[in-house]
Amino acid sequence: MDLGAIVTRIGADMAAMQDRGRVADYIPQLGGVDPDQFGMAVVTKDGETYLTGDALIPFSIQSVSKVFTLAIALGRLGEALWKRVGVEPSGHAFNSILQLETEAGIPRNPFINAGALVVTDSILAGHAPRETLGEILRFVRMSAGDDDIHIKQSVARTGEETGHLNRALAHFMTSHGRLQNPVDLTCGTYFHQCAIEMNCLQLARAGRFLMGPSKDAPSLVSAQKIRRINALMMTCGHYDGSGEFAFRVGLPGKSGVGGGILAIVPNTAVVAVWSPGLNTRGNSQLGTLAMERLAHATGWSVYG
Ligand code: GLN
Repeated sequence: MDLGAIVTRIGADMAAMQDRGRVADYIPQLGGVDPDQFGMAVVTKDGETYLTGDALIPFSIQSVSKVFTLAIALGRLGEALWKRVGVEPSGHAFNSILQLETEAGIPRNPFINAGALVVTDSILAGHAPRETLGEILRFVRMSAGDDDIHIKQSVARTGEETGHLNRALAHFMTSHGRLQNPVDLTCGTYFHQCAIEMNCLQLARAGRFLMGPSKDAPSLVSAQKIRRINALMMTCGHYDGSGEFAFRVGLPGKSGVGGGILAIVPNTAVVAVWSPGLNTRGNSQLGTLAMERLAHATGWSVYG
């Protein structure tokens, strides 16, 4: 299999696409991003790297950050985390408040916003937001083997200014006794973790710990935790589009409204793809299509 040729062809095909989805504009700093961009990076278990398109242009990872905070929280709390957040797909939009009301303020899973706020709240416990953000950045930099990964303050600020729904989710959970820190601290930390910027190469390298042991990558979590995070990425990583991603791509993946997707091919490779235009469920339109083509061309799937 000529992986380099496959990746290059996908990059060329995506560059020619007309229908690129819609850039998220509810966070103003994201609305101005040029929709014509597309990048992909594949890093294999043996450390081979394949790039195409805008793979070295940094973008806002947004909800892809939830994978890293989940890994940190699982390391810190272990199984106790599952008392605070569930492991079921929600079938609802990433920022929906609907199920929280009927389910006593316990979010369905750690990847919808409510669940991610609980995860961030759990690692914040007893720390200042600045310390927790330092810990998140340390984790990401270590997993990527790259210290040049930062938070874009202007994106964090606009996330904060427009983050009424996230604060509403947090207040709702607080009223049920589900958060341990003041809403502003948990939400402030969350807005900043979402504002981490990476390019496709950095993101793929940062995700290596989820494919299992691989060349040059630090092993950051146990095999059991890797399986669990991958299972949640498959069932919940694309919100109400998770079924479709599993159906079309067949790999665990986590999307963000910045247009990034991190996908894992267990024991084989990790893929980061980015294109800012989103489909109606808030997942990268061309990113999903590119992942589908990559999975088809390589035969990569967790389903046989
Ligand atoms: N910061 C965004 C929000 O909380 C992240 C959402 C996403 O990427 N799906 O609305």
